[in-house]
Formats: sequence, structure tokens, C-alpha cells
Amino acid sequence: MWSLDRWLKRRTLAHHPVPPELWSRVRKRLPILDGLSAEEDRYLLDSCVLFLQAKTLTALEGVDLDDESRLFLAAQAQLPLLALGDLNWYQGFHEIVLYPHDFISPQKHRDASGIEHEWNGEHSGEAWTQGPVILAWSGVLMSGGWGAYNLVIHELAHKLDMLNGDANGLPPLHRGMNVSEWAHTMQSAFDALNHQLDIHPHAHTAIDPYAAENPGEFFAVTSEYFFSAPDLLANAYPAVYQQLKAFYRQDTLARLTALEQQNPAYKAHTKV
Ligand code: ZN
Repeated sequence: MWSLDRWLKRRTLAHHPVPPELWSRVRKRLPILDGLSAEEDRYLLDSCVLFLQAKTLTALEGVDLDDESRLFLAAQAQLPLLALGDLNWYQGFHEIVLYPHDFISPQKHRDASGIEHEWNGEHSGEAWTQGPVILAWSGVLMSGGWGAYNLVIHELAHKLDMLNGDANGLPPLHRGMNVSEWAHTMQSAFDALNHQLDIHPHAHTAIDPYAAENPGEFFAVTSEYFFSAPDLLANAYPAVYQQLKAFYRQDTLARLTALEQQNPAYKAHTKV
């Protein structure tokens, strides 16, 4: 059946061809894309082109945003959506603002006794409900490898989480997924991490202790690990890995394991 939406997308893709050498340069800078099939690669590239046409990237002074940089960012933004179908998952924002480095932004928090605290915090990323995503370009450049860090995926996981309300660690789950199973799995792991930090505030935790801040951060940090250190995540919190695998519909651990089987030194060379 003819569809206006599909026709518009095809037209956009035809008007914005990406030279193969440019895409291959971007792919080389993004080890987390290694192991994708040719079909997934093609789909990802098309998604990047559509994403870059649909969103406004605003680069502040000090960020040099050429075509390669734009694709480098878009590919990381689109990787989590690779198997999620054409459902406009990033409908909640239109703009990504890029600061050259970490930025100061006002923070507000109401504590348990109702007192509101305000302070200025230094951040490398922020995702505002009903607003833009803000990223420090220095953090984007550090992302893309298997080094348990991905600023782009972290902030965009918050956006997925916000699709059904506040960033509370519960994004809209697919049919067939069980909300109470998700909540129980995430809460247990979140509690275990908090318990570990309560006993030893400087404990060497299996994942970034920032995940213990609140359930929204737990989902964002574990999503980040799911794509950039699936082995660490699956080892520390296997049930969380399984829930994220069901949500993102990708098996990143299988992808990484296959790459390591082909080349035992693979991961050591591809940490950013
Ligand atoms: Zn966060």
C-alpha cells in the first residue's frame, strides 16, 4: 500500500546520499557498531540520515560540527533504536544542543522533609522533559567504544524513559514484556547497588555508582552499559541484562562475544 510517510522518507534518503567512504570513516570510530549485519548497517545509516533531517543540532562555539561529526553522533543515537521499528521513539524532542565541554546548569531537588535545595552542578549531559537534549561534545567524542561509557546513549535512554511520563526507570515496554517483572528486576539490582554503597561509600562497584542516584539514572546507566560494556553488565546484573535485551531487542553480549571469538585481543583494542 502506498504510504505518504514512506514516500517522504524515501525522498529524504534520495536527496541526502552519504558517500560510502564517509560512512566507513564513521564506522571505524564506533567499535560498538562492529558485528552488525550488512542489513542492520544499511538500516542504521538510513535512520541516521532521517534523524539528522528531523532534529536540529545546535553547536555552540568551540564545537566544529562537520558531516562526519553529525553522523558520528547520529549513529550512536540510532543504535538503541535499531530493532525497535519505525515508531518515532525520539518524538519527545527536536533539538540537540552541543556544548564544547562540561557545562554548569542550575539543579533543584526537594528532599524528604520538603526543603528545596538549589545549586549549580557541572554536567556532561542533560535531557529535559519536553525539551532538548544537551551534550558536552568532549563526552560525545569519548563515546563509541566498548569502554563502559556512552554519553549519547545515556541521555537518549532518559528520553525513552520520558515517553510515558517522568524519567523513573520505566520506559514504555513492548507487548509481551511484563511491567512487574521489569520493576522487580530493576528495583532489586538498584537496591543491591545502593546497599553496597551504604556499607562502603567508596566501594569499587561493578557499574558506575551514579546508577544508584535514582531509578531513572539506573535505567540510563545500565542502557549505556548494555551497548558499551554488555559483558560487565551481564556479569554484574544478569537479570537486568535480560530485561534490557527484551526492551532493545538486541543481544549486544552475543555481538561482542562473537567479535572476541574471532579475535581474542578485540576488546582491548577498541576501548575508547
Ligand atoms: Zn542521567
